[in-house]
Amino acid sequence: MSFPTPPGFTPDQFKTPTEPEPEPSSNDNSEPQFPDNLEKTELKNAIREYQEWCNQNYDVLDVDLSDIPVEISIKLKKTAGKVAWINGTSEIKYIRYAFKAYQKWGWEKFAETIRHELIHVHTIQNYQKGGHGRLFKMLVDKMDTTRHCESFTEDEAKYILKCSECDKEIGRRHKRSKIVKQPWNYSSQCCSENVKVEENQ
Ligand SMILES: [Zn+2]
Ligand SMILES: [Zn+2]
Repeated sequence: MSFPTPPGFTPDQFKTPTEPEPEPSSNDNSEPQFPDNLEKTELKNAIREYQEWCNQNYDVLDVDLSDIPVEISIKLKKTAGKVAWINGTSEIKYIRYAFKAYQKWGWEKFAETIRHELIHVHTIQNYQKGGHGRLFKMLVDKMDTTRHCESFTEDEAKYILKCSECDKEIGRRHKRSKIVKQPWNYSSQCCSENVKVEENQ
């Protein structure tokens, strides 16, 4: 059923303007996103896909990932990622990622680690150099990542907080936070006694 056009108007004025087709939300270059709850094998596939995406979309990166195995380690705790290579050559044995880092951080922050490891791959394959020196530093900002292989375990914390009465561990801190600087302003729950701070090794 249609309504008559009122006098003084043209029928076109009552048409709904046709909306332009929405842009497809993912075109070929958009950064792939992955969920935070992948299983080990799924994570491995996600990393492989993401590494390739980085290689194609970060201009500064020039790596050959085809022969490099990606390993997901349950045990790795010291760093979130690690590139194993034969020193002084451009030969990389594998890239190992810590499953626990992914579980703790989720994908977005974990992807920062992947980009960090890819810089190692880049300097090793192109300059036979590992480490976080000048070559590495030059690429850090361009790869939107950090210079340090970030640790993610509580064990890496610098300070341990304990109850001064029963010695029970109350917490750990990575930085000189308020409680580390002024433990006397705090008291333990267990004994309502002073908190003491010990350096972790
Ligand atoms: Zn590193
Ligand atoms: Zn106590």
